Amino acid sequence: MIELIVADRCTNCGACVDVCPTNVIEPARSGPPILARVEDCQTCFMCELYCVADAIYVAPDCDRRVSVDPDEIVAAGRLGQYRRHSGWDEWDGLFPNEQWLMETVFRRAGEAAASDKPQR
Ligand code: SF4
Ligand code: SF4
Repeated sequence: MIELIVADRCTNCGACVDVCPTNVIEPARSGPPILARVEDCQTCFMCELYCVADAIYVAPDCDRRVSVDPDEIVAAGRLGQYRRHSGWDEWDGLFPNEQWLMETVFRRAGEAAASDKPQR
C-alpha cells in the first residue's frame, strides 16, 4: 500500500492524483498531495510509476499498512526503485518499457466496474 510522499521531492505535478484508480490521493491546497484513503489502495504501483520526481513509496504489502521510516527509505534507494526495475521511461536506456500494457488492463477494469454499477 502507498505509505509515503516525500515532500521535498514532490513537485506538485498532480500525476499521482490523476492515475490512482481508486482515488487514494487528493490534491492539497498547497504542497504535496494528501494520502486521503490509504485503505482503498490496490498496491498497483501506478502512482510510483508516474511520479517522475521519485517522491512516492508504495510498500509491497497489499493487505495491511506497514510502518516506514522516510529517512531509511531514501537512504536505501527505494524511491524510484520500482520505476527503474520495471523499465518505466526506459530508465537510463537500459530496459525496454513494456509496462504501458497495464494501462489497457486498468482501463478495462474501470469500464467493467462502471458497467456493474446500478443505473439510477
Ligand atoms: S506524481 Fe510525484 S511529484 Fe507529482 S504530485 Fe504526485 S508525488 Fe508529487
Ligand atoms: S498504489 Fe495504486 S491504488 Fe495505491 S495509491 Fe498508488 S495508484 Fe493508488
